[in-house]
Amino acid sequence: MKVGIVGAGISGLSAARQLHYNGHKVVVFERAASVGGRVSTIKKDGFVWDTGATSIAPRGKRIERFLLEELHTEDLVKIEKPIYVHSGLRVSPGSNGTPRYTFAGGNVVLAQKLAEGLDIRLNQNVDEIERANGRFQIEDEGFDAIILSAPIPQTSLLLWRLGENRPTGNVRYRPCLSLLLGYDAPLPRTQYHALLDTEQLHPMTWLCLESVKAPGRAPEGGTALVAQLSATYSHVQYEQDDQFLVQTVTGFVERLYGPSFQSPKSWNVIRWKYSQPESLATFENVNPKGSRILVASDGLVGGHIEDAFEVGTRTASLLVEED
Ligand SMILES: Cc1cc2nc3c(=O)[nH]c(=O)nc-3n(C[C@H](O)[C@H](O)[C@H](O)COP(=O)(O)OP(=O)(O)OC[C@H]3O[C@@H](n4cnc5c(N)ncnc54)[C@H](O)[C@@H]3O)c2cc1C
Repeated sequence: MKVGIVGAGISGLSAARQLHYNGHKVVVFERAASVGGRVSTIKKDGFVWDTGATSIAPRGKRIERFLLEELHTEDLVKIEKPIYVHSGLRVSPGSNGTPRYTFAGGNVVLAQKLAEGLDIRLNQNVDEIERANGRFQIEDEGFDAIILSAPIPQTSLLLWRLGENRPTGNVRYRPCLSLLLGYDAPLPRTQYHALLDTEQLHPMTWLCLESVKAPGRAPEGGTALVAQLSATYSHVQYEQDDQFLVQTVTGFVERLYGPSFQSPKSWNVIRWKYSQPESLATFENVNPKGSRILVASDGLVGGHIEDAFEVGTRTASLLVEED
């Protein structure tokens, strides 16, 4: 069987990998210049930031075996310090003991490892999929089956153009403004690697201390941070200029860690229109038995890396079972 997959995020790559190792021919079309999708890493001025997903919590799912048994890389880091909580920037211990992992070179290494040996066509935006004699065509190449792995709003557009009516209408994703900050000051010693505002009342819901999370994320004596802003704040301020957002967030960081954190040496603002789903569609309803167009998106299972990995392998298995 020859399968065309749209999207080289974790869902698309895990589906591709499973099919490839089961002897099927797979081509992955990715519109970006690199693999990973929402698992993405930026390196600049000696800082290394994960701009989307900040860590991987396998929670006993299939990705655990891949990370701990199949993937042989010294780059994998078990995050030692826990997540604490903050309420209006007042910090207290959290209760989360879930083991979490990252990669010294950035979480994008996970996607790069999954992509090894696969036929991936980068910079290829799939606008339209055509049907021809019971098969499908992408860019004049024929396929027996298609897997769509982009976030549901983007996948729905392709389904709609194909005349496929699937019940995905209730899936909503939240936006997220993600600020990458690099300082040439060392961080005061902390007991945590990240802070979470569980009540989601503060604009800064998540602050990840990248240089505490993993080694090599900042130059000697420096600090790398990623601040993710709440869904409400991100929605309202989505078009706000970068300078304003950086000033606002550095104000929060300064209150937490003191005057050496007044102005970052290096920064970047990433706007995620679709960060994580807040409502899901049902896998079985969206992927009816016998269909040769299947959806493998985190919008069917939950907005985490382990879910994306799971939905990819599940979709590949469904296709193979019906072959
Ligand atoms: C800010 C943020 C923080 C997060 N934090 C965490 C976290 O800490 N832990 C965690 O586990 N998860 C986290 N997540 C969620 C996690 O990143 C996602 O659930 C997961 O990566 C989704 O993978 P995916 O393959 O389903 O989708 P994506 O990663 O979105 O991959 C889809 C791919 O399809 C491509 N594409 C889209 N349309 C087309 C087209 N027409 N043609 C070709 N290619 C196309 C896109 O470019 C993309 O590469 C976070 C996400 C964000 C954005």
